[in-house]
Amino acid sequence: MNLAHTAEEIAFRDDVHAFIAKNLPPEIAAKVHGGKRLGRDDYMTWHKILARQGWVAPGWPKEFGGPGWNTVQQQIFDDECAAAGAPRILPFGVKMVAPVIMRFGNAAQKQHFLPRILSGEDWWCQGYSEPGAGSDLASLKTKAERAGDHYVVNGQKTWNTLGQFADWIFVLVRTASAGRPQEGISFLLVDMKTPGITVRPIRMLDGEHEINEVWFENVKVPVANLVGEENKGWTCAKFLLGHERTGIAGVGACKRELKHLKEIARREPAGGGDSLMKDVRFRDRIAQVEIELMALEVTNLRVLSAEAEGGKRAPGPEASILKVRGTEIQQSLSELMMQAVGVYGIPYVPEALDAEWGGVPVGAEYAAPLSGHYFNMRKTSIYGGSNEIQKNIVAQLSLGL
Ligand SMILES: Cc1cc2nc3c(=O)[nH]c(=O)nc-3n(C[C@H](O)[C@H](O)[C@H](O)COP(=O)(O)OP(=O)(O)OC[C@H]3O[C@@H](n4cnc5c(N)ncnc54)[C@H](O)[C@@H]3O)c2cc1C
Repeated sequence: MNLAHTAEEIAFRDDVHAFIAKNLPPEIAAKVHGGKRLGRDDYMTWHKILARQGWVAPGWPKEFGGPGWNTVQQQIFDDECAAAGAPRILPFGVKMVAPVIMRFGNAAQKQHFLPRILSGEDWWCQGYSEPGAGSDLASLKTKAERAGDHYVVNGQKTWNTLGQFADWIFVLVRTASAGRPQEGISFLLVDMKTPGITVRPIRMLDGEHEINEVWFENVKVPVANLVGEENKGWTCAKFLLGHERTGIAGVGACKRELKHLKEIARREPAGGGDSLMKDVRFRDRIAQVEIELMALEVTNLRVLSAEAEGGKRAPGPEASILKVRGTEIQQSLSELMMQAVGVYGIPYVPEALDAEWGGVPVGAEYAAPLSGHYFNMRKTSIYGGSNEIQKNIVAQLSLGL
């Protein structure tokens, strides 16, 4: 694989760069670079800017409104967005449910939902996990019983990310209990405004509200919102997880974090009056994580290319490799930043995450959000399927162990 960019790719990068420089609101970029809290409006503003340009879903086929970019162009776009401080495009609609609708949905579902995902009209969230059904997802109990032209859904979902803002939720439900647990699951699209749905916040240790419980009490869902066949939803579920795990790798964002780490290391003192960047052991650790990131980038390109060549094939077990390595790198970067600032990383000042905060940070300004970021990053090896389980998948399905 030739990793040097061609003249066309360089021209493409320049176009993307110029567009972002002109259109990304500077106050949003400042929040991302400063590690500040992003709100619904920040995500939606950027989503809509990209949607107007036709660039919000780089991985979508042209027939559904994608820009028709190849994998290298997608990677360049991801890098440029991350480097400029653009918020990530939230994956639940664009990268998770949309590929499922494209692959398994009927014509009416494609026609209705896909344009609304592109435009940002609908905010989606994910209703997979339940208390007692995380890694062992097939043991889920939320039930959907058929009653004429609708299902009646009852049960509880948990760890639901940003569902407090969502218009729609995709849910795995149990529609049969005989046979293997995987064989009685269906994939439903549910309007969050339907009576009987309650969203309750789960406060995290840092006080933030990022995740929720979602309760379903006699929620009526039209049968028209069933994706694929009844009881065959496990296939949709796995297809979606392949896309979710590929997306978690976050190569562009890791490159931005690596750059930030190097800037911190240049500014922080080490022994003898030198900067930390000159400390051989610290440089060695930065170099190690940089090498791992380069390897991840190449692997990411290989997986995305294979996916593109294979048409509608979902990323298979290789998506698990991206998920494990990507999240390990994200965690290493956050650890190194904390080590670089030393004791100044210890105070946790939630107000410092607000762009408007006018307080004086203890130590350098870049140290203030680091402990919040460090602890938040611990989640990455759990969500999207914990890394231990991903290693089992790689061992069994990729390595045949
Ligand atoms: C911040 C965050 C956001 C999330 N957002 C969403 C969301 O939006 N929607 C959604 O549906 N879900 C979401 N999740 C849920 C996430 O997908 C699950 O937490 C994850 O799949 C793990 O399930 P669990 O928490 O039930 O852990 P468990 O399955 O109980 O596992 C606990 C531990 O045991 C280990 N373990 C379990 N079985 C094995 C095994 N066979 N071999 C080796 N180790 C094993 C696990 O790896 C883990 O370390 C989110 C989770 C987090 C933390």
